[in-house]
Amino acid sequence: MTPIVVAADVRKTFGSVQALDGVSIEISTGRVLCIVGPSGSGKSTFLRCINQLERIDSGAIWVDGELVGYRRVGDKLYELTDAEVARQRLASGMVFQRFNLFQHLTAIENIIEGPVTVQKRRRSEAIDEAVALLDQVGLAAKRDAYPSELSGGQQQRVAIARALAMRPKLMLFDEPTSALDPELVGDVLAVMRNLASSGMTMIVVTHELGFAREVANEVVFMDQGAIVERGPPQDVLVHPQQQRTRDFIAAVL
Ligand code: ADP
Ligand code: MG
Repeated sequence: MTPIVVAADVRKTFGSVQALDGVSIEISTGRVLCIVGPSGSGKSTFLRCINQLERIDSGAIWVDGELVGYRRVGDKLYELTDAEVARQRLASGMVFQRFNLFQHLTAIENIIEGPVTVQKRRRSEAIDEAVALLDQVGLAAKRDAYPSELSGGQQQRVAIARALAMRPKLMLFDEPTSALDPELVGDVLAVMRNLASSGMTMIVVTHELGFAREVANEVVFMDQGAIVERGPPQDVLVHPQQQRTRDFIAAVL
């Protein structure tokens, strides 16, 4: 299987905080990786580094075979230009805890915005695709609704459709359900489950251990900027080897 994301000894500090302390991982195409761990363990920072919302201090990340953020010429590394970074970033779609849709645009306008303005695709084609995506996330009837007219769960499903509209090679989810009322979580997880079944490569930071157990091919437990334990969900979530993992699972359940 081809790895679509490779991280090698990735380090990132914020001032005196070591947010990532040597993270190495590979994810193959079509697989679902769930990252769990306590608050402040570096989960968001790791996703943000993959997506180039943060620049790493050392180590390397490859997405779809390309070194992230740098070009190698001989044995020298050169920082990519903003335009090259913007192009690379399109490889991954990111969904955040807060849905941050454009409030002044309808659901369908939110979805076609990137394809039309960034990717310069034909508006009619973008609309056709957005209609299909709205259907995929169960919101065909809400195409002309504004975010303020949608529940948190519906907004998050529009945010997923908006990310998918850019035709990313992988999807990054950063606690996509943790800002939602409990009764709205299920619909969002169902969309993510379907997306996983369709073969999308996904990295999901979540406290939804049931979802992780059911959908993940692999689970990583992070603490203090490092991977403490990784493996199949049964191993990490049901029969963890490390005390820190056991403590975390006991606290979340
Ligand atoms: P998690 O997502 O697992 O809760 P984060 O990746 O958000 O953890 O944060 C890891 C550590 O890095 C925390 O100590 C956090 O306070 C710190 N951190 C994250 N982003 C920043 C930032 N932009 N500036 C300063 N510190 C940050
Ligand atoms: Mg986080």
